[in-house]
Amino acid sequence: MAKLDEPLRKVLGDKTAKVLASGLDLHTVGDLLHHYPRRYAHRGELTELASLEDGEHVTVMAEVTKVQGRTLTRSPGYVLEITVTDGTGELKLSFFGRKGSYIPERDLSPGTRGLFAGKISTYRPRSGRPVRQLAHPQYKVVAAKNAEAAAQEWADEIIPIYPATKGLDIDAITKSVGMVLDQLELGADPMPELTLKRRGMIDLRDAYEGIHRPKDWDQLGRARKRLKWDEAFVLQIALAQRRLAAAALPAKSRPAIEAGILDAFDARLPFDLTEGQRDVGREISEDLALEHPMHRLLQGDVGSGKTVVALRAMLQVVDGGGQAVLLAPTEVLAQQHFRSITGMLGELGQAGQLGGAEHATRVALLTGSQGAKVRKATLLDAASGAAGIVVGTHALLEDHVQFADLGLVVVDEQHRFGVEQRDALREKVTGGRPHVLVMTATPIPRTVAMTVFGDLETSVLGQLPAGRAEIKTHVVPAEKPAFLARTWERIKEEAAQGRQIYIVCPRIGEQEGDEGDVVQEEGERRSPLGIMEVLPRLEGELLDGLRIGVLHGKLHPDEKEAVMRRFTERELDVLLATTVIEVGVDVPNATVMVIMDADRFGVSQLHQLRGRVGRGNLPGLCLLVTDAEVGSKARERLDAVASTTDGFKLSRLDLEQRREGDVLGASQAGRSSSLRLLTLQRDEDVILAAREEATALIEADPDLEGNPALAEELAALLDEDRTEFLEKA
Ligand code: ADP
Ligand code: MG
Repeated sequence: MAKLDEPLRKVLGDKTAKVLASGLDLHTVGDLLHHYPRRYAHRGELTELASLEDGEHVTVMAEVTKVQGRTLTRSPGYVLEITVTDGTGELKLSFFGRKGSYIPERDLSPGTRGLFAGKISTYRPRSGRPVRQLAHPQYKVVAAKNAEAAAQEWADEIIPIYPATKGLDIDAITKSVGMVLDQLELGADPMPELTLKRRGMIDLRDAYEGIHRPKDWDQLGRARKRLKWDEAFVLQIALAQRRLAAAALPAKSRPAIEAGILDAFDARLPFDLTEGQRDVGREISEDLALEHPMHRLLQGDVGSGKTVVALRAMLQVVDGGGQAVLLAPTEVLAQQHFRSITGMLGELGQAGQLGGAEHATRVALLTGSQGAKVRKATLLDAASGAAGIVVGTHALLEDHVQFADLGLVVVDEQHRFGVEQRDALREKVTGGRPHVLVMTATPIPRTVAMTVFGDLETSVLGQLPAGRAEIKTHVVPAEKPAFLARTWERIKEEAAQGRQIYIVCPRIGEQEGDEGDVVQEEGERRSPLGIMEVLPRLEGELLDGLRIGVLHGKLHPDEKEAVMRRFTERELDVLLATTVIEVGVDVPNATVMVIMDADRFGVSQLHQLRGRVGRGNLPGLCLLVTDAEVGSKARERLDAVASTTDGFKLSRLDLEQRREGDVLGASQAGRSSSLRLLTLQRDEDVILAAREEATALIEADPDLEGNPALAEELAALLDEDRTEFLEKA
């Protein structure tokens, strides 16, 4: 009998075990059982040969008519060509290799029927007609072609198609899985019996049987339901434990007080808070009053006014005698936050200075590039408590940075900080934990919020401040050169009216190690445009006479700061930049965003970039310049961005277009991801239900003492490298 942790070698023998280990990284019985079929073939779904299209992944059922080996002049030296037909058309199968090697010559003789799976391409011989072919298809021989009954059975049979590997065809994997299933010995079911009953779920043995050897689609459906549940549930158990543990920690309570700096700030705000800002503000205010650390994720679309919300939270902590830190991912952003916070606070931020108000505090900026003198003063202000608010970059995390009484950590743009960094800040707090507010401008679909960010409470700023002008977005495609010409005209017109323009390129260009997470697609393409390549053309020709500044990550921080300041103070008309301006940059006078090679960016990135314009009451214009062809995926993506400014809609689209692994941040999507069946795109209801059940279970049995089998599952999950993505949250 074989338990889940039994080495495959013992069940399948050395040879097969070796191939499974090297090709698919499967080592134990459990590994193989969790290597689920990628899909299932079924005669009803088979494609007719006559209707095949290039690039399609297909499974066809056909009969071998001709087998021919050919010696090639070039490597690998030999090709076995097999012609098959299904009566509607012909297809050529090519297997390259050494003569007499593992090539399936002996399996596929004329008259044999088989299933063939692979990607269709067209082979164009030097003479004669082009031929449709499958190169190195996976195959499975199907016997008993003349027996009526067998044919019927065969027609109904569900054939699991496994992600195969070199040296093992589908058949061999199917056989191995069958052997393992036949000998399988399962321990106690990790899932609580009551949960299974309540959710109408089958037991684990039936589930493994049903996913690997389904007799019908219903059985397969039940199996998938059960296994999917397990994935969602164990993940949610892990998250529920983290939430509970965090909630049990001590923190200093910072309740709102009357007539303090927060009230004074509210009184001088030049605008009314939106309803969302007030609601979220209340949630945060209540959290801060608790004696356990707040752990909240604040989501709000670009321009929804998160900074004010965060600042109000910081001021409540200052009122409570504490300090707050705002951690920004880049120097540009830190500087900008510093500017806008000191601006909004006015005299309330000038404690100890002439003109400082009654409840005033001090705001300090700490970045890596500051001179020793400035830095020393800032460190002193932080350590003495004179600075109620400290804005900064990673420099804030260094050991020598001390606080008198750190009460709140605000992290802007979470995804760029890891949990170790949050912990580094927490250690600066004695006698408890700081409250933590994480802000993200990339709207997160609910399923992602419940998984990747599952240990945080979430607040959403759903509406933009009133009076926000609209942003128009247009695709400027290669097939309409007049549009591009018009783009440069338009920029000049805006500049003539005193407005400012951003032009973004995917790369710096003419430099090594470029920045920017540009979308790479298959195939040969020219390299994306760099700003250093574009600059001479803009200066010399297209935008002659305009004042153009350049901003990218490789500049010295002082230069960055200087360029940003010149742009903010309208000494520049155009800012030519990489995605360093993606998040947070706030220059209300900027009205046009031109994105070159826009197809090289992801949806969320484009949305973020677009959010840099239309921030005041001036209408914004966003131009997506691309040579992606009509009908291509890239072009669809751009059309989608042009069609809506709803960040949540776009983030769902982004999620659909990305692989799960990218979403979860796991480095090796696929293999070690605990999510094999569960998808963040389609399984919101499963995730929601699992979250409810898991939360209830952990509240009743925090250490899973009454559920040892589940505790074991959890330990296994946390062991694997995908803790990484939990950690990232
Ligand atoms: P984001 O959520 O993208 O960080 P910001 O906090 O930078 O947005 O706010 C965008 C702009 O809107 C800022 O200039 C800010 O001063 C302004 N703003 C914020 N809240 C309001 C409001 N309630 N009414 C009008 N303007 C607001
Ligand atoms: Mg912001």
